[in-house]
Amino acid sequence: MAQLQRVAIAPNQQFDDHIQLTDAQGHYLQRVLRLQVGDRFIAMDGSQWWLAEIQDGFRANMLEILPAAADVSATITLIMAMPKQGMDDIVRQATELGVSTIVPVQSDRTLLKPSAQKLDRWQRIVQEAAEQSERQHIPMVMDPQGAIAALGATTASHRYICTARGDRPSLLSVAQRDCKNLQDVAIAVGPEGGWSEAEVQEAIACGYQPVSLGRHILRAITAPLVALSILTAVLEDESL
Ligand code: SAM
Repeated sequence: MAQLQRVAIAPNQQFDDHIQLTDAQGHYLQRVLRLQVGDRFIAMDGSQWWLAEIQDGFRANMLEILPAAADVSATITLIMAMPKQGMDDIVRQATELGVSTIVPVQSDRTLLKPSAQKLDRWQRIVQEAAEQSERQHIPMVMDPQGAIAALGATTASHRYICTARGDRPSLLSVAQRDCKNLQDVAIAVGPEGGWSEAEVQEAIACGYQPVSLGRHILRAITAPLVALSILTAVLEDESL
């Protein structure tokens, strides 16, 4: 199955025994990839994979449920203060690195106010990245919200906030310490100007552990990738 194209489908495209492809999906499968009637692809509905077969222009039969590749073993929520540039890349790479939910936030030092089109674009990027990296689950991008509200709203059992300065334990050491019951994690990353002191204090009051990603100050677009790489490496380390 490895060579079959993967296509993320929404719940409203899925009927009893068939899938209604969108114009863009039909065009991509048949015009770009040159798939013909009877050719097969893998439909990812967000929780499982289906073997599907093109029936006509925009309809595909669902043939059978396939065993999906294992996903990251924990639910990871990235609370990301939106940087002025680079949020598209963060969304794409966070999906590749196994994130479950992305919460874009406006913080005290965030300038960006994304349009509705931006949100649609981020959800499309997530779908493409989930297809490309063969994720079982398709992450969700939440509507942007204020940082304090987002930090307080999480129900994750393990909460970390990345702070670029101060004497903080490393994310690696605390994730290794917590790894036995690390099933539901929230990780918060600040904007170019960093979190304000009020935001850090509020996060601590909400149960977040401030953590370091190393001695160097990382760009706001680099920090989430480093944080997620550390988390997934710990989660996938069977020796721990
Ligand atoms: N302007 C801030 C300063 O000078 O302190 C730096 C902000 S940094 C460019 C953007 C965000 O990335 C920070 O708010 C933090 O969440 C994260 N970050 C960057 N480097 C980090 C590090 N070494 N440890 C922990 N978090 C880091």
